[in-house]
Amino acid sequence: MRDEEETVAAFDGRLFTLNSAPGWKLNRQRIVTSGGREYREWDPHRSKLAAFLATGGSFFPFSRQSNVLYLGASAGTTASHVADIAPAGRVCCIEISFSSYVRLREVAERHPCMIPVLADASKPGEYAAIVGEPDVLYQDIAQRNSVEIFLKNVLHFRSLRSLFLVVKARSIDSAVSPRLVFAEAKRKVDKALGVRSGMVDISAFEKDHAVIYATVGTTGEP
Ligand code: SAM
Repeated sequence: MRDEEETVAAFDGRLFTLNSAPGWKLNRQRIVTSGGREYREWDPHRSKLAAFLATGGSFFPFSRQSNVLYLGASAGTTASHVADIAPAGRVCCIEISFSSYVRLREVAERHPCMIPVLADASKPGEYAAIVGEPDVLYQDIAQRNSVEIFLKNVLHFRSLRSLFLVVKARSIDSAVSPRLVFAEAKRKVDKALGVRSGMVDISAFEKDHAVIYATVGTTGEP
């Protein structure tokens, strides 16, 4: 694969990633071949990062060499697409559920840049040695304290420059409107990190979810 090749593409209005494990796909995923290269459909109903892009999110700090810390990788659906996007980097996938981790490991067997780790994302000190110096953080854990877990990791890994936080409103507070939960999560992130984050409501694809994104350690805003 050449460096300048696009790892994300659109065909017929659908998103795809350049398959870094040609011949492999998840379940009944659609495959398209173009210019001799194989692309795997990236479904915004199954991946919140794809939903972010499909909703107009333009923050996309990944390169082929990105070192990504992925918190809440589950069975590896989105992580496999991140691996397509950063095949020459590292995608450290932290997952707490053993059954999801077992499936994640199977996906990682086909993606050399993926490193599956069975661990609790609220304890970054326990996986820091494996993760090294990540530049992108992507967190998707549907927990009441997900903002606190996110901040803990950002403050632990000082090499981080680009951040994504998926917020599931109902996991944080089901008694108030999702918009208020999103705004409060964003306020906490901005205050704790001294940033002005951006936010995209992806509820059209994933009910009551938003993605907060920010840049840290540089002077620019997202
Ligand atoms: N990001 C996945 C994707 O797009 O394919 C879906 C993630 S799912 C919504 C949330 C995952 O976070 C679950 O697999 C859950 O086990 C995991 N999780 C919840 N709390 C966690 C924690 N403290 N540490 C690590 N993983 C956690």
